[in-house]
Amino acid sequence: MKIDILTLFPDMVSQVLAESIIGRAQQNEILEVNCVNIRDFTNDKHRRVDDYPYGGGQGMVMQAEPIYNAYKSLTKNCAEKPFVIYMSPQGSLLNQNMAKELSQKKYIIIVCGHYEGVDERIIEEIVDCEISIGDYVLTGGEIPAVVLCDTVCRLVPGVLKSKQSIIDESHYNGLLEYPQYTRPPVFMGRKVPEVLLSGHQANIEKWRHEQSVLRTQKKRPDMLK
Ligand code: SAM
Repeated sequence: MKIDILTLFPDMVSQVLAESIIGRAQQNEILEVNCVNIRDFTNDKHRRVDDYPYGGGQGMVMQAEPIYNAYKSLTKNCAEKPFVIYMSPQGSLLNQNMAKELSQKKYIIIVCGHYEGVDERIIEEIVDCEISIGDYVLTGGEIPAVVLCDTVCRLVPGVLKSKQSIIDESHYNGLLEYPQYTRPPVFMGRKVPEVLLSGHQANIEKWRHEQSVLRTQKKRPDMLK
């Protein structure tokens, strides 16, 4: 899978995605993630990429043209249009099912807004889907883009060592994951549940499923509706 992220602050994104599991997957060429500086595509001699909003009001708006130029430059040799996402507090709320669907795409372009956002016409022209990471407003789309990339990329086959770890995890099958324990067997007087030390795999699976249901009921009853 290839992901290009269009941003005014490429370092905010590239440094995070170069680390850990997603970084390793890029080194192993399972993923290709590029950060593209929108400022490199402005025709303005002062490298400006934003301007005052028509109609007045607070803040600055990112101009459509530099984003469009960046998009055209990336896609000029593409046989198929990539799937273009605009990170926006007005978008559909990101969830695990959405991440699963996106992990099957071959090529995604993510546009990060900043300031008051982007000129509406760039959304109309190139964007397939607007995605929000929550009902709150951040200063820019860079952190949301990192969140989206991380959750999508870890579902791409080969990125995680075991597919089972994805299947067991919270939200994959509409439940939260069971509690996890590691050594030592006793910590501050608290023991690891006996069943996990029994070696009886069927009993362990049964216990884990019961725990998943119980903690979903307790922590997120809305998920069981
Ligand atoms: N004026 C915009 C509005 O009211 O809808 C908000 C602009 S926000 C300050 C700047 C940029 O941050 C947005 O263009 C978007 O890319 C990003 N952003 C902010 N909150 C976000 C969220 N919850 N999810 C995804 N992106 C967000």
